[in-house]
Amino acid sequence: MYQNVTVIGAGRMGSALASALFNKGFFTTVWNRTASKTEPLARLGLRIAPSLVEAINAADVIILNVLNYHSVRQLLEVPDIESALHGKILVQLTTGTPDEAREMESWAQSRGISYLEGAILSYPMNIGKPETAVLYSGPEEIFNRVKSVLLAFGGNAMLVGNEIGQASALDIAVMAAFCVNTMFGFLYGYIVCEGERISAAQYMGFVKSLMPAVEGVLTDMCSKLQKKDYGGDQASLEAWSVAPRELVAWCGQHGVDHGIITPQLALFEKAIKSGNGQLDFSYFYKVLKGATT
Ligand code: NAP
Repeated sequence: MYQNVTVIGAGRMGSALASALFNKGFFTTVWNRTASKTEPLARLGLRIAPSLVEAINAADVIILNVLNYHSVRQLLEVPDIESALHGKILVQLTTGTPDEAREMESWAQSRGISYLEGAILSYPMNIGKPETAVLYSGPEEIFNRVKSVLLAFGGNAMLVGNEIGQASALDIAVMAAFCVNTMFGFLYGYIVCEGERISAAQYMGFVKSLMPAVEGVLTDMCSKLQKKDYGGDQASLEAWSVAPRELVAWCGQHGVDHGIITPQLALFEKAIKSGNGQLDFSYFYKVLKGATT
């Protein structure tokens, strides 16, 4: 059971990770490029290392959370740092791509560093809560060795696969589902409600009440994709196209930028024109993969 843990990076997320470890009783050391950002952590009682090498020397488990992989490589691919990390466990929680994770794992293996990759699916304010999910990928034996440390970040610490890129792959997939259109879509809905004098509370309440129906629609689409059955038995592309068309019209009338909706509407119109208007939304899978004729 590891008691000493080091966190590299004290941005919004790194600070939350370090606090969570400290609150669970780990002897926690932190290093950040800009030292002043560690002051709130020092006031809580965490140990602040004066240099990156000293931070690594202070523990056998090193948690890394900086902005991106470019920063990760700048920090770690330095001979002194590589020697300090030799024989330790490195848990890399900076967001990256599956390829970046694979390259980092090869780097770690060739330097005698045990390596796990993780992807965080929550805001800093939720770090440490029992329901918070963090995905990990890499060797199960390393995951099991550090699981007691990882549980400090969230009760839902999941090893999604031994292949090191799988945590970041699942992160990208889930963010595609919940970020790309959901966040912009929510803003459009908010703007429409504001323009039509519907309260934010009423809008939010309605959005929440629809969540089970959304789950049902996605489950149905997943099943259709698995069966390669793109039949529109529940709703056709023609029916689906009404909402984006109305949104574009509403935005046009109210001077709201609809530049990100217009290309989606064009996809519907193209599908309808080519005689596929009665198919299901899942038909767009083939369009995205360039598999339509
Ligand atoms: P942040 O508040 O902007 O903090 C960025 C951190 O990266 C700071 O500690 C910064 O150090 C460090 N950094 C940037 N460039 C560096 C470099 N070249 N060398 C060394 N350190 C460098 O960002 P954050 O929200 O904590 O996000 C950190 C990571 O967590 C990202 O990969 C993000 O995708 C992931 N994440 C964040 C959230 C979230 O809700 N915030 C959720 C899931 C995942 P300085 O203080 O010296 O600038």
